[in-house]
Amino acid sequence: MALNEYRKKRDFSVTPEPSGDGRAGEGNTARLIYVVQKHRATQLHYDFRLEWSGTLLSWAVPKGPSVDPSVKRLAMQVEDHPIDYANFEGVIPEGEYGGGTVMVWDKGTWEPESPDVDAALKKGDLKFSLHGEKLIGSWVLVRTRGFGSSSGRSSWLLIKHRDQFALERDIAGDEPRSALTNRLLAEIARDEGGDVEKAATGDPPVKKAATGDRAAEKAASSRAPKSKKAGVRKHQRSSSR
Ligand code: MN
Repeated sequence: MALNEYRKKRDFSVTPEPSGDGRAGEGNTARLIYVVQKHRATQLHYDFRLEWSGTLLSWAVPKGPSVDPSVKRLAMQVEDHPIDYANFEGVIPEGEYGGGTVMVWDKGTWEPESPDVDAALKKGDLKFSLHGEKLIGSWVLVRTRGFGSSSGRSSWLLIKHRDQFALERDIAGDEPRSALTNRLLAEIARDEGGDVEKAATGDPPVKKAATGDRAAEKAASSRAPKSKKAGVRKHQRSSSR
């Protein structure tokens, strides 16, 4: 399988990420998994993943997908990930590969529009439809000859096709919460023992509000220093819904 690089980079006695030992792919094209994981590692990025041939083909999209067809987003292909990675939301310990907070930002299924997926990948022009909760409709991944191609990584562009689901809006900024748990990055970090302050830098900036505004208070307290985490957690439990 193509998971050697994935496994080589990770110590599964330390990171909670799946090792990929559990499931081999069945090559079932009826319901292929699609997932986008928002990942506050060294740099914030969105990991765009499509199930194919028993693994998740993966691209790191620094700015996240755009539903505006005039906006092309750089997508660096990274190592294939195991299928069960699609459900991973949590904290990769600092010091480990990709250390930081991971959110399942969007999930669903995908369908190839290119008739021969392997040929399309080889050619560097894969057309597909997404059936996600946030991303829907027709898209394309096109490989470029630009920078990044020398390091064994290839750079691609992720582009929304013009269809009824195309919109001029910033979906990554407008819909910052988990498709799995509705949490922000800072809330995932708080719940899973991660670096809340670092994770919060991947969430939208807190809007200025009048003193006493509960939402602002809550957001501010989730950015409190790590040493106060226990107290913050207690406060948030008692004050949240
Ligand atoms: Mn990542």
